[in-house]
Amino acid sequence: MAKVDLTFGKKLKKYGAIDFNACYNCGTCTAVCALSTEMDSFPREMIRLSVTGQSEDIKASLKPWLCYYCGECTTYCPQEAKPGELMMSLRRYLISRYDWTGLSSIFYQNLTAYIIAFLLVIIAVVGIFLSGTFSKESFMHLGHYFEMIAIGGVFLIILLPNLIRMWRFTLLSKNINANIKHYWIALKDLFTHMFTQKRTLACNDEKDNKVWWFEHFILVIGYLSLLFTTVFLNWFGTKSLVVISMGYLFSAIIFVVTFDFILRRVKKDSTKTTFSHFTDWFFVIWLFLMGLSAFTVRLFLDFNLLERYFWAYLIHITVLAQWALIIVPFGKWMHFLYRSFAMYFDKIAKLAKTGQH
Ligand code: SF4
Ligand code: SF4
Repeated sequence: MAKVDLTFGKKLKKYGAIDFNACYNCGTCTAVCALSTEMDSFPREMIRLSVTGQSEDIKASLKPWLCYYCGECTTYCPQEAKPGELMMSLRRYLISRYDWTGLSSIFYQNLTAYIIAFLLVIIAVVGIFLSGTFSKESFMHLGHYFEMIAIGGVFLIILLPNLIRMWRFTLLSKNINANIKHYWIALKDLFTHMFTQKRTLACNDEKDNKVWWFEHFILVIGYLSLLFTTVFLNWFGTKSLVVISMGYLFSAIIFVVTFDFILRRVKKDSTKTTFSHFTDWFFVIWLFLMGLSAFTVRLFLDFNLLERYFWAYLIHITVLAQWALIIVPFGKWMHFLYRSFAMYFDKIAKLAKTGQH
């Protein structure tokens, strides 16, 4: 018999769920959801599992990731049970279940712990700088090495083991009979969804859905390109005009788009921006600060002002360290990774089910 978690409803509220107990199971949400299909029916099924505390079934399900949070279900729910927010809170919950360190669970449920982690990073960065061990130039070199070590370390220590856990929970535990060919064929889906998120375009009710998709699309491209320019092309150390211009462009894209995301959340002008968990705020604000502070540092470098206003680099490296050590491995950034892999695993499961070769 499936294990029932009697405290599940309470727990989910900490992850951002609102009023889902008001659901009377009418099915309107599933009927209006443009992404729900006969094979992958949601969100009603997820609401039932949540109300009855079937947390292990939820852990094994990929359905919360198949929802792209367009908000139609919330708009049309006659009980105002906010099914779209429930789906979003389930994704946060799943992130904390996949995470072997347990830190995602603590951070998602506890704003104070989240703030303390951010403060500890500030103390560490400022402490290293004030220790006097490094000159300003060598401190910038250290910052550059930190970027490379953080990317490699976070990937190997956190992201990879967590992806393996996700695979174990959602494919392996269900004894899905997939072979290597299924994994290979489905790879195309992984990269398509990761870089285009084209499934968002299938949501059909929100009038600004295409703008929303386009902003996300250029943000992902801008973010990955800035990462590449900064880490691998050494944007702050290069003399190449092409690389310098690329960095300006990508950082500008990031802070312009994220500024719009912040405005949308402040204005609450659509269902998907009405309810924000504190981790959503940290995500957009920190992404905005990363773009802006990177842009400012390079501008100061080009006008020979960085030596005098070195605090700009200190702010940038602090924001970057908070981003790389907290938001990426334990926060909203993981939606990007897990959703892409959920689409991949889902495709593998379907190929295995239909016996396609
Ligand atoms: S539309 Fe609302 S009340 Fe009906 S099943 Fe969905 S969440 Fe429940
Ligand atoms: S938020 Fe959109 S995609 Fe997600 S369940 Fe609701 S209608 Fe479907």
